[in-house]
Amino acid sequence: FAGNAAAGDDQQPRSTTATHFLLVPWMAQGHTIPMTDLARLLAEHGAQVSLVTTPVNAARMAGFVAAVEEADLPVQLLKLPFPAAEFGLPDGCENMDMVQSRDLLGNFIEACGALREPLAARLRQQRPPPSCIISDVMHWWTGSIAREFDIPKLTFNGSCTFASLARYIIYRDDLLEKATDEEEIITFPGFPMPLELPKAKCPGSMYVPGVEQIRQKVFEEEMRSYGKVMNSFQELETLYIESFEQMTGKKVWTVGPMCLCHKDSNTMVARGNKASMDEAQCLQWLDSKNPGSVIFVSFGSLASTEPKQLVELGLGLEASKKPFIWVIKAGNKSPEVEEWLADGFEERIKDRGMIIRGWAPQMLILWHQAVGGFMTHCGWNSTIEGICAGVPMITWPHFAEQFLNEKLVVELLKTGVEIGVKGVTQWRTEQKELMVTRNAVETAVSTLMNDGEAAEEMRMRAKDFGIKARRALEEGGSSYNNIRLLIQEMGKKQNASG
Ligand code: UDP
Repeated sequence: FAGNAAAGDDQQPRSTTATHFLLVPWMAQGHTIPMTDLARLLAEHGAQVSLVTTPVNAARMAGFVAAVEEADLPVQLLKLPFPAAEFGLPDGCENMDMVQSRDLLGNFIEACGALREPLAARLRQQRPPPSCIISDVMHWWTGSIAREFDIPKLTFNGSCTFASLARYIIYRDDLLEKATDEEEIITFPGFPMPLELPKAKCPGSMYVPGVEQIRQKVFEEEMRSYGKVMNSFQELETLYIESFEQMTGKKVWTVGPMCLCHKDSNTMVARGNKASMDEAQCLQWLDSKNPGSVIFVSFGSLASTEPKQLVELGLGLEASKKPFIWVIKAGNKSPEVEEWLADGFEERIKDRGMIIRGWAPQMLILWHQAVGGFMTHCGWNSTIEGICAGVPMITWPHFAEQFLNEKLVVELLKTGVEIGVKGVTQWRTEQKELMVTRNAVETAVSTLMNDGEAAEEMRMRAKDFGIKARRALEEGGSSYNNIRLLIQEMGKKQNASG
């Protein structure tokens, strides 16, 4: 690349000949993080990448920017101001985890839609245009930009193919509209295995104002797109990838697990945001524990847990007598919980429990040999990170496609046990009842972490998937090859049109 301009902030693309991908992530951690990983993977394979973001989100990407700069990768941020105030959002509210109520999600979605014009204007100044757009499905409006510049658009939705296929069937057949009751069982015509879920546990059942209004456009633009980029790998979901391609007529490029672009602790620790605790302290604590003895408990970036549910979870962890790391995210901190933690709990568990308040270096922790189990909300990123780390999981889905990911882990991969949630904990909705009791927590932890034959077999299977995941991204592996094919194909389209 000519000029050796530093990769990173708002540079012009460094080369006019390399295949150039414009990545437009949805501003939620579970969607942005894999896109930054994808940026790195594409750049490592010789492509040039521009990643669209906004100031607050860019600040969270400081670690990512430093890492691509250090590796001299041709990745730059294309930063656009975010019109929060214009759409009735508090200043700086630029990420879904900052949207404080369901009623404001519609405003957030509209503010994202308003990025269309400034983005198109920036692209008009750049010659040649990017070879291709990879856009989150939520940014349905990127389809019109791709058409304006006559370039292909690929979609990304942050899920696995198993869940994406179920979601496709739901939208294609209007399954949620046809079911009247939340408990009504939905069946999925054409799905390659018998699949049944109550309506409330299906993807698309968030019923948040704003999402409903764009649902149809999202689906239409997804179906108009050139294909799909998936954070998964061929060996994990062969049948579902084939079925997805057949049913939708869209090509799927499985190029994951994207998190495996991180090869050392330096880049892992700053992934997604600055960790709220000292990395060395965290590693020292883990080093002091026996291999495979620690259960890691974290529910991603969006799921909220009521104070009384947090207390119940803590008591279950205490009763399990196993070492644990428990992440209480910033948004779930409350005086009630802090008081309870300080009133004896932290003292009682101090020799075997670590509480992280805020952003945890999740990959760094999962990759440590002391971690032997992962209690997860089954967001797809956490799920695939658990798969890569080769650890069995305790599944505690909250909403959206998390119930499908639970099925994948427990019923198909057989690398996890259900905690047995009683229902759906919708995003930003007060949850009056306990979804999981302390006894259920204790039982699940002992089932997963004991020395019995069933648990040992689960651990072996999990390890095996971890090995397969790594192979997929090694030279000659399925995802490695798919990344190369994707770059080649988008490069050819660029040459054909230019
Ligand atoms: N994550 C993290 N530290 C945290 C919370 C989350 O690194 O304290 C990362 C996690 O590793 C994953 C992403 O944030 O990559 C969350 O995505 P996921 O799909 O699991 O859940 P979501 O947040 O979308 O519900």
